[in-house]
Amino acid sequence: MFNRILIANRGEIALRIMRAARELGCETVCVYSEADRDGPWLELADEAVCIGPGPAADSYLRFDRIIAAAETTQADAIHPGYGFLAENAQFNEVCVDCNIRFIGPNPQAMATLGDKIACKNLAKETGTPVFPGSDGQIEDPDEAAQLAESIGYPVIVKASAGGGGRGMRIAHDEAQLRAGISSATQEAVAAFGNGAVYIEKFLERARHVEVQCLGDDHGNAVHLFNRDCTSQRRHQKLVEEGPAPGVDPAVRDRVCESAAALIRAAGYSGAATCEFLMDESQDFYMLEVNTRVQVEHPVTELITGVDIVKASIQVAAGEVLPVRQEDVSINGHAIEFRINAEDPDRNFMPQAGVMETFNTPGGMGVRVDSHVRPGYRIPPNYDSMIAKLIVHGRDREEAIARARSALGEFQAGPGATTLSLHRKIIETDQFRNVDMDIHWVERWLEAQAAVAAT
Ligand code: ADP
Repeated sequence: MFNRILIANRGEIALRIMRAARELGCETVCVYSEADRDGPWLELADEAVCIGPGPAADSYLRFDRIIAAAETTQADAIHPGYGFLAENAQFNEVCVDCNIRFIGPNPQAMATLGDKIACKNLAKETGTPVFPGSDGQIEDPDEAAQLAESIGYPVIVKASAGGGGRGMRIAHDEAQLRAGISSATQEAVAAFGNGAVYIEKFLERARHVEVQCLGDDHGNAVHLFNRDCTSQRRHQKLVEEGPAPGVDPAVRDRVCESAAALIRAAGYSGAATCEFLMDESQDFYMLEVNTRVQVEHPVTELITGVDIVKASIQVAAGEVLPVRQEDVSINGHAIEFRINAEDPDRNFMPQAGVMETFNTPGGMGVRVDSHVRPGYRIPPNYDSMIAKLIVHGRDREEAIARARSALGEFQAGPGATTLSLHRKIIETDQFRNVDMDIHWVERWLEAQAAVAAT
């Protein structure tokens, strides 16, 4: 096991990683920016090192400063958390070169799964369902137009190196397709330095269902079943739950096994998530693989009892996966709510400032992962998430009842938060009846705004 783990992140995930590291007997070093000088999570670290000013480009994204901090504090591993450098294969390589273990996949597996075309090609080999579309990069717009005709419009043009929704264009006809190929290529060159684009079928109405996987360096990979993350706004997940409701268990198991097969074939170590869209006939199509721990991992921890963060540290230290597939089963139902310091009544405007009141709920089946305490000043520089509330029950109904109670108890202010939004979401017919697709929250918010305006 490692002696000291450096955490190249902040907030709730830094805290989450420190807790897991301590359980494993590792010391922790936390790097921080000047804007996070008073971060309550730093008190839990054995050592804290300032790596620069507030803007992430000058601190949390600086390879040189993070590596220097690891070397001077004698850390033998770096955990990147999510966001920042978590999916940066170059940083991963620098860690390898400096003889510091990057807690996550090796650079090769990260690069293969992070490249959408390479990932899709490997998925085809392992039987992981993908969208019908081009075999790799589009070389010739005429061929692309023929292919689009055969799979049927609408189609989507996507950048192989894409991320954060950039380099994507939806096309409903040939003219849009030709324009989309050229503009997506230009955008991808500018954003990623790689202009490769491909096309695939565009699904109008779908749910987002993803599979949590874990792999090790000994050729093992398992899945920890699935999560539904259909409730989103502007591609940002708001509510996640597991297991994904209303998916036939045989279909679920087949898709989950195919996701684990993909991770295994990539020679992947650590936590990974295969994201899929699912249509009304429960056909699955892979979107992408996230090569890191995800915000919503606690949903899976509650239903499987597997500590995903601890397992990812153990496999990075060279241990065999602590779970075998046959030992993983689903216990009940869990739902996570992302509580953001944003005002749902003012177009989700971020609310920086001091959190004066912060009373978290408790009781059976209630977990709160948060770095906030009363008096904490939310810096304006980063993500606005202040807490994750995760509830667990014997079934979805009990989980929703617990959510209602816990969301009611939770008090945070004086600034607005998304707590009020979540209290409404769980009462909608759409959420209760799983009558959802990835745009349902946006449509519902628009309908509410229209009613309020009259
Ligand atoms: P990124 O890496 O930029 O986030 P993704 O491949 O994850 O790109 O796609 C982002 C979002 O775009 C998805 O969550 C989904 O809402 C939408 N999307 C991508 N591909 C398709 C598709 N083939 N059909 C319908 N929606 C899609």
